[in-house]
Amino acid sequence: MILILHAQLTEEERSQVHSQVSDISGQQGSLVKIEGSYVLTLDGARVHQKARSLIAGLGGIKRIVAIPTAYKLVSRHFKDERTAVVVGSDHACNAIAIGAGQPAIIAGPCAVENREQLFEVAMEVKTAGATMLRGGAFKPRTSPYQFQGLGLEGLSLLAEARERSGLPIVTEVMEPDMVETVAWYADMLQIGTRNMQNYPLLRACGRHSHKRPVMLKRGLSATIEEWLLAAEYIVASGNPNVVLCERGIRGYDPLTRNVLDLTAVPLLKELTHLPVIVDPSHATGKSSLVPAMARAGIAAGADGLMVEVHTHPDQALCDGKQAITPRQLFKIAFDSHAIAGLTFGESKGEESKGLIV
Ligand code: PEP
Ligand code: MN
Repeated sequence: MILILHAQLTEEERSQVHSQVSDISGQQGSLVKIEGSYVLTLDGARVHQKARSLIAGLGGIKRIVAIPTAYKLVSRHFKDERTAVVVGSDHACNAIAIGAGQPAIIAGPCAVENREQLFEVAMEVKTAGATMLRGGAFKPRTSPYQFQGLGLEGLSLLAEARERSGLPIVTEVMEPDMVETVAWYADMLQIGTRNMQNYPLLRACGRHSHKRPVMLKRGLSATIEEWLLAAEYIVASGNPNVVLCERGIRGYDPLTRNVLDLTAVPLLKELTHLPVIVDPSHATGKSSLVPAMARAGIAAGADGLMVEVHTHPDQALCDGKQAITPRQLFKIAFDSHAIAGLTFGESKGEESKGLIV
């Protein structure tokens, strides 16, 4: 259940409505500002009929929207028009809008390894058609003995690479206490597959002061509903700028790293207004399979791709087997624009408009 508050309320009046609704419903709910409107979200299933009438009679509430799904703010029942997420507008770089029609091409190494590697790959992916640079400074590795990333040094190298290339940067944050720091450097925060249900981290990414957009990767074996509820945590904590990234789910065949669930892309387009991108690198684990699955992702309606690229994949400190070269990226970027042009107007060509209330 979503209560949309009147725009002219003062902060004091809004918090008064919030506490009245909390008293009546017995729920704290979440009060956040989304596209200029203040909205208070509750679990409607726990609001009985009498409480509903009391809430409906309160002043200050413009409209009540019943949402039949467990996720509310990310649902198309709340907002039917597609959301476009702008990335890079707070730093000196070429900002992009993910979900506005043109496919986002996010490319770069799995991990920031050193200055030369990052700067070289940043310029090469840019030439190949990338619109954003990726690179992990804090790496969630399966073994504690593997390369764990350069940490803070990696973040400052990424910021320098943004300055040189003009590409906005996305990098992973693993701990709630590091969100402010990572957000200070980055244009977009990445929540990795292993952390999709790390609720303190989701909340911290929602609340942090820089309000950077968040790329939320699908959990290793998460259902679509669990994934959307994870996105809901971020939005309900105050950050409406979330992009979902399908990166494959755990399968049984060791010949591929994961199973790329492409059905998730058009399904998510039905269920949520948030943009959806595809990561064919972690989905396949194998560079030879990346171009075909990248094309398939865009054909399925994805708003962009996240691809791991290395100038010397055989020397990569992390995920070298799935890394493609900048030259291969050039073809993927070219094909993506061509394929997106063919499907334009189907689902992702709709213009992103404001909130319907
Ligand atoms: C990554 O993008 O580098 C990464 C670790 O991905 P995932 O969380 O999907 O495994
Ligand atoms: Mn990787």
